[in-house]
Amino acid sequence: MTETPVPAGIPDHIRHQIAGKATDSVSGATFDVLDPATNRPYATAAAGTAEDIDLAVAAARRAFTEGPWPELPARERARVLHRIADSVEERGTELATLESFDTGLPITQARGQAKRAAENFRFFGDLIVGMHEDAYRVPDSQINYVVRKPVGVAGLITPWNTPFMLESWKLAPALAAGCTVVLKPAEFTPLSAGLWAGIFAEAGLPEGVFNLVNGIGEEAGAALVAHPDVPLLSFTGETTTGKTIMREAAQHLKGLSMELGGKSPVVVFADADLDACLDSALFGVLSLNGERCTAGSRILVERSVYEEFAERYAERARNVVVGPPQDPATEVGALVHPEHYARVCDYVATGKAEGRLLAGGHRPAHLAEGNYLAPTVFADVGRDARIFQEEIFGPVVTLTPFDTEEEAIELANDVDYGLAGYVWTSDLGRGHRVAQSIEAGMLWLNSHNIRDLRTPFGGVKSSGVGHEGGTRSIDFYTNEHIVHVAMGQVHVPRFGARGED
Ligand code: NAD
Repeated sequence: MTETPVPAGIPDHIRHQIAGKATDSVSGATFDVLDPATNRPYATAAAGTAEDIDLAVAAARRAFTEGPWPELPARERARVLHRIADSVEERGTELATLESFDTGLPITQARGQAKRAAENFRFFGDLIVGMHEDAYRVPDSQINYVVRKPVGVAGLITPWNTPFMLESWKLAPALAAGCTVVLKPAEFTPLSAGLWAGIFAEAGLPEGVFNLVNGIGEEAGAALVAHPDVPLLSFTGETTTGKTIMREAAQHLKGLSMELGGKSPVVVFADADLDACLDSALFGVLSLNGERCTAGSRILVERSVYEEFAERYAERARNVVVGPPQDPATEVGALVHPEHYARVCDYVATGKAEGRLLAGGHRPAHLAEGNYLAPTVFADVGRDARIFQEEIFGPVVTLTPFDTEEEAIELANDVDYGLAGYVWTSDLGRGHRVAQSIEAGMLWLNSHNIRDLRTPFGGVKSSGVGHEGGTRSIDFYTNEHIVHVAMGQVHVPRFGARGED
């Protein structure tokens, strides 16, 4: 039996949040939200269109121009952000329950995501207080100084994987910087975003600073992208969507941050600590159901340890606990939505012709309904295979042998994506060399996905444009105004004054 009861307190209808009020769409349209463990609709959500986006942007614009949020001293904005962090922390269990139910993520992992969301608010609250603005003295005559001002209404478009945490990753710096926002969460997972308005109101965020419009990407998302009063967009999602948004945003020369897809390599040399590497390489692609942008989904292994590694990896993958998201013993839950599940299953079918299936490749026998897939391992996958090249975004991994360091680097780089990379070796010189040769925004050497919030985050190639994280996020949500001030008499060449001399 895979069905879990709908947890208490889950609404059966999810609304927009515009100017401090919960609203339905002007058109009255709705869409169904599904429980990934059963694929049964458990709620409807308001389906926003351009009209709802217009209302939300107008509210955000008013809150920006009339204040007080953008002009508040940084310390006061920080106080609000800290209260938000406290509230997210207090509601951690509730949040994790909603998130796990809506996304299919294992509950134990959803708890970690809720904690990280609180950390994001605390971090950006502290950062904004500590940030300084620059001043430059021009010898004898001038001082030039730089004032940072919030850009205006920030459009935030987010994906369905770890939705609450990824929303916090954009909301916290945007609010810290003094922007007002319109958030368009992913349509597969609108549930947890419904909590923000209450949390923000309790923390003292003025009305209209935060606005949220639910809806389908091509309608609500596209209207936000096209809106002339939204000068910047922070987008996380698929590369193809990112390209569409960039094209549209170019009409208004909007500021853009693009966090896109990945197909990250894990390079394993024979001298690596194989036990630690095995733990990390399993966690890297199976945690969060493999629906993780930085998943190490292509494992490249030096040939002398390849067979041993492949066997041990597959054995562990076969023993991973796949089960209902709300069960604390579950390690891999249900994939987010039947459309996404079908896509992942298509890749598994393709993989059976492109590689040697070592584990998984099927629905677990004890889970008759819902989007469950046994962790799937393909060995001997060549670089031209689709399952080597394309982002699958599920618990599916490829193994490929290599003979030399050069070949490992070549294989690692032979994809369009460049988000993350992982290198395992006990030869530190080689480790640094390879890490620096992999075309990816972020590399981990003998480690996995651990990141301090001060560190920038972002990809290269088809994985993104621009970096967020730490001060980069504040840079993104602010404009620099540079003021040049004369300190005494200024000697200006006197154009048109020749006759007077
Ligand atoms: P998606 O691109 O389908 O959707 C993301 C968001 O964009 C959703 O809110 C969607 O409604 C909206 N959208 C869709 N079409 C739009 C349009 N034409 N105009 C405006 N908005 C539109 O992505 P997804 O399937 O929700 O998320 C999974 C993807 O996100 C994966 O590729 C994953 O790698 C990527 N991701 C990247 C990072 C990162 O930091 N690099 C982090 C998490 C997820």
